[in-house]
Amino acid sequence: MSDRNVAVVTGGSRGIGRAVAIQLAKSGNDVAVIYRGNKEKAEEVVDIIKSFGVDAISIQADVSSSSDCKEAISKVKEAFGKVNILVNNAGITRDGLLIRMKDSDFDDVINANLKGTFYMMRECIPLMLKADVKKIINISSVAGVLGNQGQANYSASKAGVIGLTKSAAREYASKKININAIAPGMIETDMTGDMNEKAREGVIATVPFKQMGKAEDIAFAVDFLAGKGSDYITGQVLCVDGGMAI
Ligand code: NDP
Repeated sequence: MSDRNVAVVTGGSRGIGRAVAIQLAKSGNDVAVIYRGNKEKAEEVVDIIKSFGVDAISIQADVSSSSDCKEAISKVKEAFGKVNILVNNAGITRDGLLIRMKDSDFDDVINANLKGTFYMMRECIPLMLKADVKKIINISSVAGVLGNQGQANYSASKAGVIGLTKSAAREYASKKININAIAPGMIETDMTGDMNEKAREGVIATVPFKQMGKAEDIAFAVDFLAGKGSDYITGQVLCVDGGMAI
């Protein structure tokens, strides 16, 4: 077993998760990149990570399936023997007005964003208990803090992630597992890429910094919460949002 810490990053093939996986590798961690369907992109991230002299694997898993999560973490255990850092980043949107929202739009978002986070924590925490370094970072959203019109499903899932984070932080404080959440604001990724110019301008107007964030802005915050600097921090929600949630 390597002396390096092992990080599991869900949704590591693209966007914020990609930046997080690369940043954690730069900080000297081995990384398991979990992706849903984009094998090519996930393999690209693995190659970049390996160029930093640490180890990486990609694993296909749908986080909304408890059996996929179980299997994925058993593959991580097989490959690296341990888990020290878990970043629950995989997430989806299915936006629409509440009164027109289909059951499946609500369920799919809750299953991926909230239940996926729960499943991965349930699999990883038992492996973390005996480790020296044990950190969980859950990616919520400013929509989970403030709510957002057209995102009843998404906001509920991300507010749920905050409740899950705080409860787990209390439950595993005696085991010295640091469990925190990050609430990103508007970040340039595929998720926000299909907004039209008018909608984009409207959102940027609500950001005190008057600009969107980059995936790397979130990656630096994750790296902090995954490192020594967060040893006395647990159950917190760090808004990385150019001031949106002030
Ligand atoms: P992207 O859409 O760019 O990427 C999503 C990633 O999640 C991909 O790697 C995708 O895998 C993976 N994924 C999606 N569903 C599943 C699933 N069921 N199982 C496994 N992997 C899955 O999203 P972002 O990078 O923008 O968002 C990352 C996180 O940050 C999400 O939780 C999102 O809600 C949150 N967030 C984003 C904000 C933004 O402005 N971008 C703002 C606030 C929060 P694949 O490539 O294989 O499809």
